[in-house]
This record gives sequence, C-alpha cells and structure tokens, in this order.
Amino acid sequence: MPVVPAKSSPDLLGNPAIGQGIRMFPHQATRITVLSGGMGGAKFVQGLLHGIDRGTLPAVAPDAEVTVIANTADDLWIHGLKVCPDLDTLMYTLGDGIDPERGWGRREETWSAKTELERYGVEPTWFGLGDRDIATHLVRTQMLESGYPLSEVTTALCRRWQPGVHLVPMSDDRVETHVAIADADQASGKRVIHFQEYWVRLRAEVPAEALVFVGLDQTTPAPGVLEAIADADLVIVPPSNPVVSVGTILGVPGIREALRTTAAPVVGVSPIVGDTHVRGMAHQMLTAIGVEVTATAVARHYGARSGGGVLDGWLVDESDAHQVASVEAAGIACAAVPLMMIDHEATASMAAAAIGLVRPL
Ligand code: GDP
Ligand code: CA
Repeated sequence: MPVVPAKSSPDLLGNPAIGQGIRMFPHQATRITVLSGGMGGAKFVQGLLHGIDRGTLPAVAPDAEVTVIANTADDLWIHGLKVCPDLDTLMYTLGDGIDPERGWGRREETWSAKTELERYGVEPTWFGLGDRDIATHLVRTQMLESGYPLSEVTTALCRRWQPGVHLVPMSDDRVETHVAIADADQASGKRVIHFQEYWVRLRAEVPAEALVFVGLDQTTPAPGVLEAIADADLVIVPPSNPVVSVGTILGVPGIREALRTTAAPVVGVSPIVGDTHVRGMAHQMLTAIGVEVTATAVARHYGARSGGGVLDGWLVDESDAHQVASVEAAGIACAAVPLMMIDHEATASMAAAAIGLVRPL
C-alpha cells in the first residue's frame, strides 16, 4: 500500500519535522485493526463502530471491517474452567450482553453457583463467576479440552454474540500475568500472585513491585493476528492498559515487528488523563515497570515508529494539552481532545480525532 510521504503534508501538524516518517493511509480505510484489553478497549471499539455506522469518521469506508486483537494474559483457570476476562468483556460489550453497571460479566446475572461453591468452602471465593457467565466458560473449556484452539473457540462463542468485529485472541497459547507484592510473612519478603488476585481480591491497593508475564516469550500469535496488522489500512491502540493489556499483546513475539513494518499508520489514545489512570490500575502497572504516569510517558514507552517503536500518532486529553509538544518531540503526531468515553458519540469523536492525525490529505 502506498504511503504518503510526510514531507508532502507539512500542514498536518504545522511542523514538517514532526511529520517525518509518520505514515498516512492514502484512501478510504476499509480494514481497521485494534489492539485491546477489556473495558477500556471495548468501550472504545463501541464508539469506533458507532462512528463507522454514522459515517462520522474521516476517510473510513461505511463498510469498514474491524478486527480486534484481544489481550489474553489476564486469563485464568478457576474451578476447572478457563476464563478469559478481556475476550469476554469485548464479546459481551459489543454483543450487548454486558452488565453496564459493573462493566464486566453478564447482565441480569445471578450468583447461585458462586454461593454454592462458597458453602462447600471451595477457594478461591474472590473471583465472581455468575451463573450466566459460567455457561460461556463451560462451552469454552469443553471446546479447549476437545482440542480446539482458543481462537476457534472465540469464533464459535461470537456466533452467538455477533459482536460486529472479528475478535481474535493475541495468542492461542497460555500466558499469565503475575504480580509480585510485598509480604512480610515470606522469607523473600515477596509473594507472587496471579494478576486477577491482585486486581480483584486486593483491588490493586498495594504497590506492584514487579510483573512477570509467564509464558509470554514462548507464545506465537494466533492465526490471523499478524495478517490483521499487515493487511490493515489503519491500526488503533485504544485507551487500554499500556502494561497488562497492550503491553502483553506487544510482547507476543512477532506482533511488535508486525506493527513496525505494516504500511498502515498506527495511532493510539492515551489511557492516562491528567497524570492519573481514569479507572482500573494502570498507575500501579506503569509504576511497576518504571514508567511515569503521564500521557507523554506512555507515548514514549510505546515509542515512535520512526525510532523503532509502534506509534505514528497519539491523542492526549484536552487537560494534557501542555504535553503535546513533548509527544511531538518524540517523533509522534499528537493532538489534545476530550478523552473521556462518556457515551458512544464522545468516543466516536475520539476515534475521529485519532484518525485525523494520520488521514490522507
Ligand atoms: P481492562 O482490561 O478491563 O482493564 O481494560 P483495558 O485494559 O482495555 O482498559 C483499562 C484502562 O482504560 C484503564 O486503566 C484506564 O486508564 C483506561 N480508561 C478507562 N476509561 C477511560 C476513558 O473514559 N478515557 C480514557 N482516556 N481512558 C479510559
Ligand atoms: Ca484486562
């Protein structure tokens, strides 16, 4: 796919030097690929689909197809069931089955199975498996145990949910994010727990001292993942957790390289607003890997494609407008717009602004 040289578009950023090496797509985008975690990514994709549907996204075809590559490093086995929180949040949100209050799990959920398990004294009790949700995990586990890879299982589950996107796990291989926390009772002074225990049981209230991505460097991308990046007209990094959602996707061997080499521009949206995480635990995760909790630091952590990183463009919140220059100084096109995903309309505007950074002239 031809790439419009940045020097032919000096007006884009008002500074031709900043535009150097930044890719544009030269025609209407028909294939958009998103690298997503759970809640932040799912909400963003909802807004993106809304914008495509309403025709409010610049240079995006009305029939554009969206592929979502989902983080699977949050996955866990619990009570003999394989649970994939980010895949499920995406599937339920986009398939209109999500509980809108909690932002995870099924709407109109009941909790009889959880209560019964507690009465047996079975641990762990901190992970909420709702009755409706359990059906998903039963289907998934049965299929996995019959030999189907997670990507095929996901396709099968999506036949019911019709999420309106191609939903693909980052890998069919098992990966688990573990978190080291201080524990005075241990000889080492530390204890390593599954990410879900850190987030759900401890509510990320204690510092994460280190992160271990068990199995990540041994994984291969799921079928279709590298193609979805290579063949895209546009790749979007939504405001997902930069460490335990997007960071783990980028850690699957081959994915970072595919992003570096795709002809499509790669634009991102900051999950950090006003130097803090909007929700979730991105602040703890960034601190654990030594990255400052600012929109600029996250952009620099991803890096400019012109410097071997993955980003051509980066959106920061309007309250972080003073950071635009420092992002641009890193070789990444940048703009400041409202970044709170309060409704589909607001989120579609964010998507439009992200695309505006790399749209054809
Ligand atoms: P998770 O897997 O459910 O934690 O979801 P993601 O990794 O996809 O996204 C979580 C991150 O989204 C949070 O850490 C926040 O930083 C970010 N986030 C959530 N809501 C918003 C929002 O309205 N605007 C922005 N800019 N970021 C948000
Ligand atoms: Ca997640």
